[in-house]
Amino acid sequence: MTGGGADTAHEQWLVQIDAELDGELSLVERAALAKHLATCARCAGARASQLEVRVALARSAGNPHAFVVPRPSIRAGTLAVWVTIALATGLIAGWAANRRWGGPGAGSTLEESRGIIVVQ
Ligand SMILES: [Zn+2]
Repeated sequence: MTGGGADTAHEQWLVQIDAELDGELSLVERAALAKHLATCARCAGARASQLEVRVALARSAGNPHAFVVPRPSIRAGTLAVWVTIALATGLIAGWAANRRWGGPGAGSTLEESRGIIVVQ
């Protein structure tokens, strides 16, 4: 198995973990997932943090002892996370673009100001 292939497999397990916590997996699927989690610290850790996210969501929904998190609050929570990531990525991209364009831009400004000085 290649490194890339293993990553794809992990992505699929993460989807399965999500479905399991939503109570959407069959017994056979849950057995397969349990077997993988027993041998994979990475996916077991991901499952633990998924559970923590759900506990936080259930708490913020005013129901800390919920058995499952209702779908709408998961969607809203996930959406908020993605919006935050998108904003952060946009800010970083904008900052990088400014940095890249800062050099030539500053140069032409210098040329312009030189021209103004000559005219004066
Ligand atoms: Zn895994």
